[in-house]
Amino acid sequence: METLKKPHAAILASPGLGHLIPVIEFAKRLVVHHNFAVTIFAIPSHSSPAEAQLLEAAMSPKLFDVVELPQPDISGQVSPDAAVVTCLAVMMRTCRPAFRLAISSMENRPNLLIVDLFGTEYLSIAEELQIPKYVYIATNAWFLALTIYLPVLDKEVNGEYIDQKERLRIPGCRSMRPQDVVDPMLERSDQQYREYLRVGTEIPKSDGILMNTWEDLQQTTLDALRNENFLGRFCKVPVYTIGPLTRPIANQRDDIIDWLDKQPEESVVFVSFGSGGTLSYEQMTELAWGLELSHQRFIWVVRPPTTSADAAFFTVGESSDDPSAYLPDGFLDRTRDLGRVVLMWAEQAQILSHPSVGGYMSHCGWNSSLESLTNGVPMIAWPLYAEQRMNAEMLTEELGVAVGPEELPTKKVVVREEIEKMVRKILVDQEGNEIRARVKEIKDSANKALSEQCGSSYVALCRFAEQCCKSAPCRNTRQPW
Ligand code: UDP
Repeated sequence: METLKKPHAAILASPGLGHLIPVIEFAKRLVVHHNFAVTIFAIPSHSSPAEAQLLEAAMSPKLFDVVELPQPDISGQVSPDAAVVTCLAVMMRTCRPAFRLAISSMENRPNLLIVDLFGTEYLSIAEELQIPKYVYIATNAWFLALTIYLPVLDKEVNGEYIDQKERLRIPGCRSMRPQDVVDPMLERSDQQYREYLRVGTEIPKSDGILMNTWEDLQQTTLDALRNENFLGRFCKVPVYTIGPLTRPIANQRDDIIDWLDKQPEESVVFVSFGSGGTLSYEQMTELAWGLELSHQRFIWVVRPPTTSADAAFFTVGESSDDPSAYLPDGFLDRTRDLGRVVLMWAEQAQILSHPSVGGYMSHCGWNSSLESLTNGVPMIAWPLYAEQRMNAEMLTEELGVAVGPEELPTKKVVVREEIEKMVRKILVDQEGNEIRARVKEIKDSANKALSEQCGSSYVALCRFAEQCCKSAPCRNTRQPW
């Protein structure tokens, strides 16, 4: 006779810290709030110290198991200049047999599979196993709307999306400036476009979608996703908004935190471009001058300049070059009292939560955007790649919590005078105070959503957990496979 057991979720994380971080936070919630057992399957993109540290920190206390799949070798399958999304898709495909083997040889086999954005090809494995299958989209609802509507756009739009004269319409949602489309939509003949299109067709085949956002933040888009007259036509499965799930604040003491402790409240701009973002030499020079000319305090996470904006995606944390080699002559000396430069990687969540931080110049990755919103920190939107241009447009135009340069930084070098102006706008000018007031309202709304007193995200995760308990085959014997 079968006895009921708690759900055991296998959660598959795509390569990259921006994917692993929200998966870990999601796993913790399932374990702590809903008594799930969780095994995270991680696909290492490379042996990064930041990734190793992250996993180590996530394991104390040990709330879930982590199975690291062998690092996939895709060198013979993609050209050296293949786009990040192509590499991610091929890495995921290459790891499928290893995942199947790992899961089938587990003594206590999971009875539920959750994949993230690039794992949708694994949903068929859940079908073979006859277990429920969900997709966790660790970003926002507007991105999901675009992704599941892409198969329609693919049929209806002629030519390149970026060459369209009008905004791209997404039923029931904010339309999109052609220049803000996600990277895989920039060139339709590229493999990354086909991979992204495939993901858009696979997501609705899951049993449900979880998202790292919350109802009040994106009500209109969420309504459209659930309405049969709009996007609900293309996606009939439940959408659970369970965010904002962000990293816990580290509480570690280091030189940066000591320095922040000595600065006035909300006086420092934090400058960082996420786990993978990099700038050109010319842009770094302008940024350095812009910061210096603003006479405002700063913390800047620097990486050696490159020609491609996502150059550090697979290599973050590996270099420790002397930054004076690529920063303007004398910059470090002249700004000694005004700012701090950190090489490669900083404890971002802890920095953003510090009371001295008053602004964040950001690449607008979704995790970082949430970390800024939940700490009530206004932003300077500096999108570089992936879906960051969409996020930037949403943060500046829709939510009004960020300022941005006139032209996208991916199109044109942002000059020092404009940088100086943006920094002063959020730290000094009246406009900054208005933005700060709005972002603080959003911070409150985020806290409300997570509240165990019927907060919308708390309730959504409860509903998801209930659904899993009903539908996951709960046996304590090994399932035939
Ligand atoms: N991050 C960090 N230190 C850094 C750079 C990034 O801790 O120096 C963390 C950041 O706090 C966030 C994640 O890495 O949680 C980046 O995810 P996001 O979605 O913002 O952007 P991505 O890096 O995936 O583009």
